[in-house]
Amino acid sequence: GELLGLNSLVANTAYLTAQHTDRDELRKLRPPLTLPKPKMSSALRTAVGRKYESLCERQPIGRKLFQQFLRACNPQYRVAAEFLEELSDWCFAEDDAREAAKQRILAKFCQPESGSFLSYLTGEAAERCKRLSDKDFEMTSDQMREDTTDFLRGKPFSEYLNSPFFYRFLQWKEYEKQKISDRYFHEFRTLGRGGFGAVCAVQVKQTGQMYACKKLNKRCLKKESGEEMALVEKQILEKVNSLFVVNLAYAYDNKTHLCMVMDLMNGGDLGFHIYKLGERGIRMERVVYYVAQITTGLLHLHSMDIVYRDMKPDNVLLDARGQCRLSDLGLAVELPKGKKVCQKAGTTGYMAPEILRQEYYRTSVDWWAVGCSIYEMVAARLPFKDFREKVQNEEVTRRTLEDECKFEHKHFDAPTQDLVRRFLKKKQAHRLGCRNGDDPRNHAFFKSINFRRLEAGLLEPPWTPKPHVVYANDTDTFGDVSEVEDVKFEAKDEKFYKQFSTGAVPIRWQKEMIDTGVFDELDQPRLNGHSREAAWE
Ligand code: ADP
Ligand code: MG
Ligand code: MG
Repeated sequence: GELLGLNSLVANTAYLTAQHTDRDELRKLRPPLTLPKPKMSSALRTAVGRKYESLCERQPIGRKLFQQFLRACNPQYRVAAEFLEELSDWCFAEDDAREAAKQRILAKFCQPESGSFLSYLTGEAAERCKRLSDKDFEMTSDQMREDTTDFLRGKPFSEYLNSPFFYRFLQWKEYEKQKISDRYFHEFRTLGRGGFGAVCAVQVKQTGQMYACKKLNKRCLKKESGEEMALVEKQILEKVNSLFVVNLAYAYDNKTHLCMVMDLMNGGDLGFHIYKLGERGIRMERVVYYVAQITTGLLHLHSMDIVYRDMKPDNVLLDARGQCRLSDLGLAVELPKGKKVCQKAGTTGYMAPEILRQEYYRTSVDWWAVGCSIYEMVAARLPFKDFREKVQNEEVTRRTLEDECKFEHKHFDAPTQDLVRRFLKKKQAHRLGCRNGDDPRNHAFFKSINFRRLEAGLLEPPWTPKPHVVYANDTDTFGDVSEVEDVKFEAKDEKFYKQFSTGAVPIRWQKEMIDTGVFDELDQPRLNGHSREAAWE
């Protein structure tokens, strides 16, 4: 009715306003932040480990502090930091800027007369640096990066571990462990509904960061034995760290729900874009861009031995900039090398022949589903099922196993047809992406995509969602999950909730602290000065 309409309008307005929260306003509102002293600092030191890659490269705050340490303490270390930075700028530069970046590196770091010569290199590495020339730069750059990293892993790293910069890192790690509850967030409108409850927009009170919170009703989970699946989804989400897969930021629970707080994807899902916005289908330039991101996301999952199993446009979500990510990893499985499954899983219309025949499979099923999805983005129907066609699953299975796919839609150009044909090979062994060495990214379909820049998040999206449009069905159309009666909770349920509710996920949380300016606000003034207070407990 009218009243409901008004409610959802208010919900939308608050949600849209929150997305444009002003940082300075927020800073004035919140109590001044101070970092806690690390409790039992030696235990925390052991817990964070001594692995260079994790501490100095993968964790964003760790990386920042290590960089600050290198630049503050020793001219040689500063040169190493600058070299790595310029090397990465070169690597991700657009084609016309690469040559200049390369020449700058050669002149600055590889000439013994230069003040920034890489004088810390010894033996073979030093020779390599001096000999480096225009021609072999591309080939040698990885080795050069490795040489410098080898140096940093040694003395600089052990000095860092005893510096105030690392003590500051331990303080952040202590802060990171805080207990998360509903009170940590403001809650906004419902964005969608899943099998076990709603997904709504939330905002971290302290930082203003927006997220999506997927809530799983504990009663429903128990009644339908969904616990194992929820835990697998949570554990896979926290493990992957890709620009093209939805990342988990927090996992916590309250009395009634388990909550997964993830990247907010407010541009709608690709299914919505294919069918619900004016002319059906998606323009080719956008299809190529989305498929490039989907492919990169899948390759990332596969490299971690994770099979997605639910590839379809409905599960690909767009963010505010117009980049896409894979979401809903509820059907994903981790299959250690060599292991296969034959379990039937997926969505009708997207399942590969080997699943339908209940044969053993691994990642091949995802490439089949990509083929179906590309077809659908172009033609606004599936290869073996028309849009809204009322057809039995058995018939879709029969067509999938027996029929050849037809390309009648006018927007199929030659490279697209060829790519889809290769993904829709009925035999796993013949399918693109399933044989050693055939990388789908090399296909002519992607010739306009610079994957190096795409992977670094530097390729501008061909289309940006309008900031004031909510790309989802109205909240009114979502039914409520009916109350589930007669569920009794036991000790083992509590144990499972504990296992699920691990709080902040380090990499994503640290990124939030940096992106929202909280890290800079707290960190710069003191550490860049000479204060060494609290360096040693
Ligand atoms: P389920 O596994 O129960 O199907 P999903 O993960 O698919 O749950 O989420 C349900 C719906 O919630 C999605 O179809 C989508 O509309 C919305 N949604 C899910 N994740 C996000 C997100 N990260 N950002 C915005 N909306 C989301
Ligand atoms: Mg879903
Ligand atoms: Mg799911």
